[in-house]
Amino acid sequence: MVHDQIVLRTFRCIAVLAVSTLALIVPLWTVNIKGQQASTPPPPPSTIGPPTRADLLRGQYGRYRANNDLLFYHLDIRVDPDKKSIAGKNTIRFRMLADDTRIQLDLAANLNIDKVMLGATPLKYERDLDTVYVDFPSTLRSGREYTIDFHYSGLPQEQGRFGGMAFRTDGAGHPWITTACEDEGARVWWPNKDQWRDEVERMQISIAVPSDLMDISNGRFMGKTDLGDGYTRWDWLVQYPINNYSVSVNIARYEHFADKLDDLPLDFYVLPQNLEKAKRQFAQAKPMLEAFRSYFGEYPFEKDGFKLIEVPYSGMEHQSAVTYGNGFVNGYLDRDWTGIGISLKFDFIIVHESGHEWFGNAVSAADVSDMWIHEGWTTYLESLYVEKMFGHDEAIRYVNSYKPKVQNREPIITQRGIHRQPQQDMYFKGTLFLNTLRSVVNDDTTWWALVRDVYQQFKYRNIMTEDVVRFFNSRTARDWTPIFDQYLRRSAIPTLQLAFNEPGSMAYRWKTDERAFAMPVRIGRPGNWTIVEPTTDWKVMPTSLGKETMDVATDLYYINVEKS
Ligand SMILES: [Zn+2]
Repeated sequence: MVHDQIVLRTFRCIAVLAVSTLALIVPLWTVNIKGQQASTPPPPPSTIGPPTRADLLRGQYGRYRANNDLLFYHLDIRVDPDKKSIAGKNTIRFRMLADDTRIQLDLAANLNIDKVMLGATPLKYERDLDTVYVDFPSTLRSGREYTIDFHYSGLPQEQGRFGGMAFRTDGAGHPWITTACEDEGARVWWPNKDQWRDEVERMQISIAVPSDLMDISNGRFMGKTDLGDGYTRWDWLVQYPINNYSVSVNIARYEHFADKLDDLPLDFYVLPQNLEKAKRQFAQAKPMLEAFRSYFGEYPFEKDGFKLIEVPYSGMEHQSAVTYGNGFVNGYLDRDWTGIGISLKFDFIIVHESGHEWFGNAVSAADVSDMWIHEGWTTYLESLYVEKMFGHDEAIRYVNSYKPKVQNREPIITQRGIHRQPQQDMYFKGTLFLNTLRSVVNDDTTWWALVRDVYQQFKYRNIMTEDVVRFFNSRTARDWTPIFDQYLRRSAIPTLQLAFNEPGSMAYRWKTDERAFAMPVRIGRPGNWTIVEPTTDWKVMPTSLGKETMDVATDLYYINVEKS
């Protein structure tokens, strides 16, 4: 997903304000450093309010979710563009992990449940906001597999930044119906177990639409069937685990063109008037895929292929069916997104949303609280693409151009179990954090192997930040926990304090919230850096450099520096 630009503009104003306020505070503050312990200004009060009951129902992984493991969905629906309605069923196969008589599913309260069937047996259910508790007449046994058919219908409401499910028309007045529901949840248009921890292993998607339209969904196209009543059913097979919100229908009078990258089928679907523009712009798909393959390994959804599909919103990382609405021009919505000239050299939406195939779709977070695993990593993938195409120096400039967008007001990782989506720092601070880790590793051969192995270790899995930290700790000689904790679980970034109290020497330490924080950093003169290993205790080193001449490699580490 791309960040919310409207909110971002507000954030930038706040950031400017914060910087100017800081300029006033710093002199007072640095005076204190000569004493034993500098005082840390108190963090601003949290802007995060209490969870609603809907947040809890959505975010908790309670007994009736934890008692089963999803195996397979077959979503089989008919979409009526005139009535703006949908009707059909989702067949849900799951394995019980405990003996129980109830499971928890989800469907938006405004959609009708027509019936829920276990074979020929109608099941009772209870609705609570968007949650649906399905009850079974006898105990479902742990280890056994069950299949239910969840029949539903109704008028999905267009909502949210990307529409939820939106019934629009194209420039020629033909229906153009799309879904994009990461924020709102897939419940807004189909019934499912709507959470992040558990994914089906495979999924079939069958969408019936008026025969003059096409439906492009996730996975491999299995064929279409004329239903004889003016409708045609389009069948797609997803052959990998998939996030609920990644499941997508895209219905329009699309033009199709195809290509191949080695054995990987590339399929592109755009409105007829944009065909020529798309053929030029989508040529970027191949070098993009090649770049990410070179860092992480094969494209994750080889059997399903890779698609780009035109939509009326900016774009979304729908698995193997990336949706695109960036106007067939470079940059992000026709502007230099990072303000340093590099963004205009490539199509931001093609690179960012496709980057999510590796981080977000293949490697997925198990709770929205840890969504930096999607957005921090994918924003970092943008810089890796820049590095592959335009070189290391441009990549470092690109990463650092994200600094003004960081707010540092709330930790990146939010409270778990209440479906609390992190603030936008997960994108930009997440990226600057990963670039910092690269500098801490201080050996690119090791770093490239590490990031590749993170991907290979966790692909097709739903993980938490602790899994990433454990992996880093097991693969290197360093305990990364305090570093991850400071950047992801605290609002403030580390401040490197340098004190020049005696001629010929310098005292230095980290000022952080994490007492155990210890991180090497390059200081001295550009091109001739010295690596020092500050901790949160003062150390003293001899130096011929003074307060004005001592530099710190702040392009390589996302830190503050205070000199006194
Ligand atoms: Zn994203």
